[in-house]
Amino acid sequence: MSDYKDKYEMVIGLEVHAQLKTNTKIFAREGCEFGREPNTETSAVTLGMPGVLPVLNKECVNMAILTGLALNSNIPSRCKFDRKQYFYPDLPKGYQISQYDEPICEGGWVQISNKKVGVTRAHLEEDAGKLVHAGAAGLYGSSYSLVDLNRAGTPLLEIVSEPDMRSSEEAREYVENLRNILKYIGVCDGNLEEGSMRADCNISIRPIGQKEFGTRAEIKNVNSFRSLVRAIEYEFIRQAEILEEGGQVVQETRLWDDNAGITSSMRGKEDAHDYRYFPEPDLMPLEISREWVEKIRATMPELPAQKLERYQAVGLSEYDANVLVNQIDMALYFDKLLQAGADAKTASNFLMGEVAAYLKEEKISIDESKLTVENFAKLLDLLKKGTISNNIAKGLIVDILNTGEDAQSLVDKKGLSVISDESSILPIVQKIVADNPEQVAAYKGGRDKLFGFFVGQAMKETKGRANPQLLNKLLKEELDK
Ligand code: ADP
Ligand code: MG
Repeated sequence: MSDYKDKYEMVIGLEVHAQLKTNTKIFAREGCEFGREPNTETSAVTLGMPGVLPVLNKECVNMAILTGLALNSNIPSRCKFDRKQYFYPDLPKGYQISQYDEPICEGGWVQISNKKVGVTRAHLEEDAGKLVHAGAAGLYGSSYSLVDLNRAGTPLLEIVSEPDMRSSEEAREYVENLRNILKYIGVCDGNLEEGSMRADCNISIRPIGQKEFGTRAEIKNVNSFRSLVRAIEYEFIRQAEILEEGGQVVQETRLWDDNAGITSSMRGKEDAHDYRYFPEPDLMPLEISREWVEKIRATMPELPAQKLERYQAVGLSEYDANVLVNQIDMALYFDKLLQAGADAKTASNFLMGEVAAYLKEEKISIDESKLTVENFAKLLDLLKKGTISNNIAKGLIVDILNTGEDAQSLVDKKGLSVISDESSILPIVQKIVADNPEQVAAYKGGRDKLFGFFVGQAMKETKGRANPQLLNKLLKEELDK
């Protein structure tokens, strides 16, 4: 049996690590940009030299407060840092500075389509370095590992959810919505593949109807939405099979293998006491005044949920609004179009149709394209005023994407404006009627659908430029004669 969903329910809680988009590290002054030469972004603090002291980067605190406010969390007036001890070669100090019992954000929630997923807490901590395992394995280890400490000390905000999710879809939606929020408020670029956002997934199962939670496994190394869903589905079946055979799920950390499509045991679960947490003596507890919180609140941009609502209020379907909101650069561009007076529905149709197709083909973003907001708005205005037809506009937008040429001058140069004077259209209509006596007879005999044929002929003749209303009127008059 491969589907145990009529018998067991899954329970999921996620721990998301978001790398904060600061210029410098959380306790040291060197940069933390992704992709630098190994070990070029280090300092005595990062290397754990004796006698050095960490200095808290205020920007990290600002970003954590902003995130907390966006997640409906409480920002306590005091929080503190703690040492989490463990030995690993990617951590020169032998401990990680984190926050244990007094985190910077407490409580909160993230809205997904069918519920609010609770946020337990969010705390600041430093990232570890990166180990690169190289060489071939041999008896005396011709294999070796290299360490890159550029990432050590990079600021992270760990956001811990309540065990509120009941399906892989809910988990996926939670991470998607959380990621959108972090991107919109500008604290994290949300790149799962590059690891600037990482989700550890806790999952347990219980017989349907049982109140108590089962024993959970924590799954690491999930670095795309697809693998999140796959890992959860795999783990659900693995745990269900254990229970079906009368066994017990053990609490442990498991690693998702994306190629094999399985999780495998990495280590037994350590408990908090294993880490010997104690207050970090090199850093003062942090006092956060209410004025500070309010100052940050005043900088809060529009959040994705609000944007979604606003887009629907100006006439987009829920689906279209979602597509735009899920691509922050498109949404911000769309907002500028609206500010420039563009009609929302028309603008979104063009943006999600011709423009999106072009960007996908060229593999560039809207901001990298030659289509400026001003020019786009101008084109939409020509369409709204009836100077050009919808089909012409569709062709023009592709021209502009390719060349960046001004919409008005393209229309003038190519002579694309709509023909709206009767004296130009009438002769064409008369000629078509005269040239097609059989169709005219059939039309008059009751085949109304043939009207489209005449329209098509006229549009062909005018290269799509005839004013449709006028054309229809003249055609009708001519045929009814
Ligand atoms: P730890 O600090 O040991 O990782 P926490 O109690 O902080 O443990 O929980 C970590 C995550 O695991 C949270 O997101 C929480 O919601 C989730 N979680 C806790 N218990 C369960 C459970 N029985 N099943 C699924 N998820 C759980
Ligand atoms: Mg944990």
